[in-house]
Amino acid sequence: MTAIETGLQDLKRRHPEWEPWLAVVHEILRETANSQWDTVVPVRTEAQQDKVPLLSGATLALEKSSIRRLLEQVIRTAYRSGTPKMATLEPALHAKLDVFTLFQASLCQDSDRLKEIAADLGADSEAFQAVTALLPVPLLNACNRRWASSKAVSWVEGYCPVCGAWPAFAEVRGIERSRFFRCGRCGGEWPSHCLFCPYCGMNDHQELVSLVPEKSGANSVIDACKRCLGYVKTFTTLQGSPPAKVLLDDLATVDLDVAALEQGYKRPQGAGYSLDVTVTDNGKAWRRFF
Ligand SMILES: [Zn+2]
Ligand SMILES: [Zn+2]
Repeated sequence: MTAIETGLQDLKRRHPEWEPWLAVVHEILRETANSQWDTVVPVRTEAQQDKVPLLSGATLALEKSSIRRLLEQVIRTAYRSGTPKMATLEPALHAKLDVFTLFQASLCQDSDRLKEIAADLGADSEAFQAVTALLPVPLLNACNRRWASSKAVSWVEGYCPVCGAWPAFAEVRGIERSRFFRCGRCGGEWPSHCLFCPYCGMNDHQELVSLVPEKSGANSVIDACKRCLGYVKTFTTLQGSPPAKVLLDDLATVDLDVAALEQGYKRPQGAGYSLDVTVTDNGKAWRRFF
């Protein structure tokens, strides 16, 4: 059994009430292993610019019917789960939805656009955004794989150097205790050279606090910023999680999110960097998607 399947089973056992959501996550993680996505990642030859994620400025030539198939697969899994909010997503299967507009909005974490699309469909906005946020994950994981050597080693921003998302959490690894941020969208990682708030850049130790919830165990803390009230879950680990498992690690530690919220801290909504991405039709059909 893979680390992903073990992680999913563990989550189902601990949170049986999450089953509908975990079914959707499972679909996406299965698709993330499809190497077909690697073939649509544009080739990069130039060095990464300061502050600009690799995805920004990219033109992605995708097959419209394949994106629609992925959307339908995920929406179908969601609405079959039987929860009332997920059931409101059903019209997305029949609507003449512009899948490229939807995919682009998901890629760019454009929540205003996603809310508009949800309203047009009559779908529950929260459920629609949660499900469609997962759509670009297979492509973004492929970008992270293909662009591994393009990432600037000197990257010092708080957002992901590949896709511009805020970190899902931080890892403090090995006996060197080197600190890395991890991205829940592309699975990427980037070093954090000192303790600082990824959201506002605060590095004054007086303004940064570490919260240790009672139930969190010795290996997890919440690093929070008193200036912007943002927080990052931080795990001490021997080695980093596999890219596709970042999403599951994030879900598995929801107790820490609850504890942080109770203390008045939050994760910022939306993107860390406003991406500029063009999605075009490549006019070719992929042989097999699933
Ligand atoms: Zn990323
Ligand atoms: Zn801050």
